[in-house]
This record gives sequence, C-alpha cells and structure tokens, in this order.
Amino acid sequence: MIDAIIYPGTFDPITNGHLDLIIRAARMCKRIVVAVAANYEKHPLFELDERVRLIQDSLQIVAGNYGNDAIIEVRCFDNLLVEFANSIGITTILRGLRAVSDFEYELQQASVNRVLDCKIETIFLMTSERYSYLSSSAVRSIARYHGCVEALVPPPVQQALMDKLGFE
Ligand code: ADP
Repeated sequence: MIDAIIYPGTFDPITNGHLDLIIRAARMCKRIVVAVAANYEKHPLFELDERVRLIQDSLQIVAGNYGNDAIIEVRCFDNLLVEFANSIGITTILRGLRAVSDFEYELQQASVNRVLDCKIETIFLMTSERYSYLSSSAVRSIARYHGCVEALVPPPVQQALMDKLGFE
C-alpha cells in the first residue's frame, strides 16, 4: 500500500473527472495531497485561493464515497513540483490519463521529474470512461457560452462559474 500520494494539477476548475480520480486513489492510499499549482502563466480563470476552496467544498460533498479513512488535504504550491513534494515528505505523484494524446506530455513530465529527483515516481490512473472527454478547459469553454455544465462539475463549481461569468 502506498502511504501518501500527491495529485498535482491546475484544477481550473476541479471537474467530476478529477473528483473521480481522487476517490479511486483514496481507496489505494492513506493520504492524498491535492496540490494546486499556481500556474499564473496559464492565466487561470479562477484565482489560486478560489481553486483551493472549490476543491475543498467539492470534496466535502463526496466525502462518504472515499471507502476508507484516507486523509485528503488540499495545498497550493508555486515552486517545482518535486521540491514541493519533498517538502511535504511525499515521493509518489499521481496523474490521470485520458487519451493517447495525454501520454506524450505525461511521459515527458514524469521523466523530467525523475531526472530532477530519482526518488520520485509517477503513477497513473486511467480515466473512467464516462469522464474520458472531460477537461477543465472544456468546462470553461462551455460555461463561457452559458452552456449547461451540471453533469460535468460538482455543484460548488457550477455556482462559482455562474458567479464568475455572470449568468444563471
Ligand atoms: P494540468 O494543468 O497539470 O494538466 P489539470 O488540472 O488539467 O492540470 O489536470 C490534473 C490531472 O488530472 C492531470 O493528470 C490530468 O490528466 C488529470 N485529469 C484531468 N481531467 C481528467 C479526467 N476527466 N479524468 C481523469 N483524469 C483527469
């Protein structure tokens, strides 16, 4: 059993695909740190503190689904992922794979991180089929054109998108 895992991402915003991955990972390890990357160069729609709060609020809603006593923390970071992981004593990174197109990027990231620190391992969970098409950027695009995102994101995110983009 893996003791602790770090699940990094931009989470702009968290989607049902991210949540599904967290719930499945929580059945495999005792502690998950959801690490929200500042990623200012991506000009996120949501501020860092908003992304953190939306993850916390969404996790509260699905808390009963974890299946064990896994501890799930939400932290933010603005430095190298391997540095941040080391600073909290975690050496296993979790990432999700949706399509073949994710593979090349993820292979590169995992390799770079292992070069930076040979203790770091990245493990991958395949997306659940029902979320294989889902990404934060798709959610942002749909919401910008006032499309319905109810099936794609947890309720706090749906509300936050309405507030941010000014529609009902
Ligand atoms: P990043 O900017 O680091 O790609 P994201 O927030 O877009 O951050 O994604 C974080 C992680 O979640 C990545 O490993 C990504 O592959 C995974 N992920 C995103 N959407 C899904 C989904 N629908 N199903 C499974 N994993 C997903």
